[in-house]
Amino acid sequence: MPYRTAALIAHAATLHADLAALCVESRALIEHVYARRRASPFRVIRGGSDIALVTSTITDANLCLACIARKTGVPVGQVNSLLLVIARTIRLRIGPHRCGACFQHRGTFSVPTDGHPATRLLRQPPDF
Ligand SMILES: [Zn+2]
Repeated sequence: MPYRTAALIAHAATLHADLAALCVESRALIEHVYARRRASPFRVIRGGSDIALVTSTITDANLCLACIARKTGVPVGQVNSLLLVIARTIRLRIGPHRCGACFQHRGTFSVPTDGHPATRLLRQPPDF
């Protein structure tokens, strides 16, 4: 029995090391994608597609303004304007929550798909 316990502990240590290596690799891949997006000459598409991009980014995800901008590549000021447009069309959940990207407790935005009513409607830019 002690041999089995030792084997399990060794296996757990191996899995833990594998997980740590995967996290490092994942962070490197994410950074590589961000660097590639920043360097891409084809990343200048703007306009109506940004609304779809912002909407899909915040669907069922509480994200702060800065993280929406970072994830979509759309400038913060433009994201703010797009959120106003989105709120006129569909429900937008707004409130102080933990951001799903930076994990900071900030004002976040989300398009809920759970059928519950929005926390409040956005009629003017929020002042978080
Ligand atoms: Zn954030």
